[in-house]
Amino acid sequence: TAFSTLPLSPATLANLEQLGYTAMTPIQAAALTPALLGKDLIAQAQTGSGKTAAFALALLANLNPRRFAVQALVLCPTRELADQVSTEIRRLARAADNIKLVTLCGGVPLRGQLASLEHGAHIVVGTPGRVLDHLERGSLPLDALNTLVLDEADRMLDMGFFDDIAAVAKRCPTARQTLLFSATYPEGIAQLAARFLREPVTVAV
Ligand code: AMP
Repeated sequence: TAFSTLPLSPATLANLEQLGYTAMTPIQAAALTPALLGKDLIAQAQTGSGKTAAFALALLANLNPRRFAVQALVLCPTRELADQVSTEIRRLARAADNIKLVTLCGGVPLRGQLASLEHGAHIVVGTPGRVLDHLERGSLPLDALNTLVLDEADRMLDMGFFDDIAAVAKRCPTARQTLLFSATYPEGIAQLAARFLREPVTVAV
């Protein structure tokens, strides 16, 4: 299916074409319609399925570039994945002007992250422990947040991040869209979904 069947801006559609994204992958075809309607989502998808673009297009659709505040937060299990996700979101965000993204991962000095946050960001991508650290320090205001993404949620749980994810989610505004992506569906994912998603739509490919 073509992306042009979705309620995306002409600039976004032109950018997708430039990137060579001619047709939606199966997870994009299944996830984007409910996600662009603002629904919470549990999406079962593997790495390589195009899942990043699925949530990136949804969070970008929710974003107001003129409002200079963090509006989307993506939690990832590792720094490597956070970097990959950041790269993909930046490619897809080229359609809009001046969208700022900051990556916040553990094992990286805080100083640079604090400076980046002070300069302002629309989107934050990071690992749960470090994101929580910033929330506790008061360096990451989330009052304008409208999209929370839990990417590779099963891997985050395997790494022992349940409590950190819960602590981060509790600090997000309740009026938000939450998108949960996971390759598998163990009990912990059901618990996360029950606590932090609202009437989610489940999609699997
Ligand atoms: P992901 O599963 O999100 O890691 O994506 C895997 C790769 O597929 C990435 O390199 C994306 O840039 C690429 N990709 C995502 N969606 C599409 C699409 N609709 N058409 C072509 N390539 C895509």
